[in-house]
Amino acid sequence: MKQYDVIVIGSGCGMNIVEEALAHELSVALVDKGPVGGTCANLGCIPSKMLIFAADRIAEILEARKLGIEAEIKNIDFNFIMERMRKSVHENREHMKQGIAETKNLVFYEGEGHFFDDYTVEVNAEKIKGDKIFIASGSRPLIPPIKGLDSVDFLTNETILQLKEKPENIIIIGGGYIAVEYGHFFAALGTKVTILEMADRLVLAEEPEIAEVLNNELSRRMDVYTDVRAEEVKGNELGIIVMATDAKDGVRKEFKARRILIAVGRRSNADLLRVENTGVEVDKRGFVKVNEYLETSKENIFAVGDINGQQMFTHVANVEASVAVDNAMHGSKTKMDYSATPHAVYSHPQIASVGMTEETARKTHKVLVGKAKYSEVAKGEAMMEETGFAKAVVEADTGKILGFHIIGPYAPILIQEVIDTMTAGISIDHIQTSMHIHPALTELIPVSLTNLSDTDS
Ligand SMILES: Cc1cc2nc3c(=O)[nH]c(=O)nc-3n(C[C@H](O)[C@H](O)[C@H](O)COP(=O)(O)OP(=O)(O)OC[C@H]3O[C@@H](n4cnc5c(N)ncnc54)[C@H](O)[C@@H]3O)c2cc1C
Repeated sequence: MKQYDVIVIGSGCGMNIVEEALAHELSVALVDKGPVGGTCANLGCIPSKMLIFAADRIAEILEARKLGIEAEIKNIDFNFIMERMRKSVHENREHMKQGIAETKNLVFYEGEGHFFDDYTVEVNAEKIKGDKIFIASGSRPLIPPIKGLDSVDFLTNETILQLKEKPENIIIIGGGYIAVEYGHFFAALGTKVTILEMADRLVLAEEPEIAEVLNNELSRRMDVYTDVRAEEVKGNELGIIVMATDAKDGVRKEFKARRILIAVGRRSNADLLRVENTGVEVDKRGFVKVNEYLETSKENIFAVGDINGQQMFTHVANVEASVAVDNAMHGSKTKMDYSATPHAVYSHPQIASVGMTEETARKTHKVLVGKAKYSEVAKGEAMMEETGFAKAVVEADTGKILGFHIIGPYAPILIQEVIDTMTAGISIDHIQTSMHIHPALTELIPVSLTNLSDTDS
């Protein structure tokens, strides 16, 4: 049986660990069932944002009317938009495969692996042993147990990337970030979009008032139903019918469309890996349990990225990979700190958020909350931005930011100043005393902080 210093399972954030281990001149085995590069590069962030970039341009052209610019879009070439994305994803993947093949001291096992017994992984009927093992095997789409779903040709974030024809209409089941991002994409292209969300609002992880603005804005371009639970799906040659019950009045409704996208969340890939065979424990949802050092319940086995179910974003996975490397290879005891974890939602309008919501912060801290609308700063007024706003949640005693939330143009860029301030562990004074270019949307951040008050928002 081949023995390695390090086995890495998963080539998404796992590649960071491979690189570090090779830099330490360790023998390394990489196991991945493909597509090489993982979810972000092949099925998630990158392809979706390439598509959404086109959708954003369409939305901007249409919105230019409010500035007195009457523009007409003559043609939207669906295949061009999809092929640009597919070509780029394919080229990057091939480039990565070539890099892996040419790397000395790295043995790549292309196949689905599982634990056979202690520290032993079986892949393609071969058993390999590792002194240290990093589980970075990610997550996959969660398919809900809706009656009849398995009898129709539903789409997921994976299969949607292979569409060759623009759907005339689409029902999206789910109201999280993947659902609203693809809702924006298809609506911009002219597809009739219906979103069915069983919770009482979209994007549950966001501040309620952000979800409300998002709902209002999306509702101008698509049908959004919240509090609606999809219960049964039927298909015929004309398309798909979703039967759903409205939680408010108990009335059963039917929705029809050519295509249906399932976007209700992610499930762990730990089952594929049979982690129990090496004594690695999973939580109730099937994600691998880790401590603050990203160690699993088994010595010398670490779990990073989506597989540990903490905060499922690429930037988090990459930081976790470097923390795990520090602890496994540099003899450190570094704790993973999630307090300044940001994320973005590339809907239209865009959302960006970091740290705690007001509700969560109030449970453990005395807080001040400040808000500012884009229209309160000169550049926002110039842009005629009417609905966007920023919300700051600040610890009253220290002036440190606990959470910050923005909905509106360029939100994912604007929030970086706040992320840096939170990561540095410094107070809002730093932002308030720094010069901000006038006029620029960045003025939104200090203005929201000058509006701080201790009343419930
Ligand atoms: C539609 C969509 C959009 C997204 N957009 C964003 C975004 O804009 N920004 C952001 O930060 N995050 C985004 N995410 C989330 C992001 O993609 C993930 O958080 C990230 O890819 C997780 O990386 P990972 O390394 O943990 O897992 P992955 O990148 O999924 O890597 C896991 C790898 O392990 C392989 N594998 C699994 N099981 C086995 C096995 N048993 N044997 C061998 N190989 C195995 C898989 O095939 C995969 O290649 C998005 C996700 C989706 C689905």
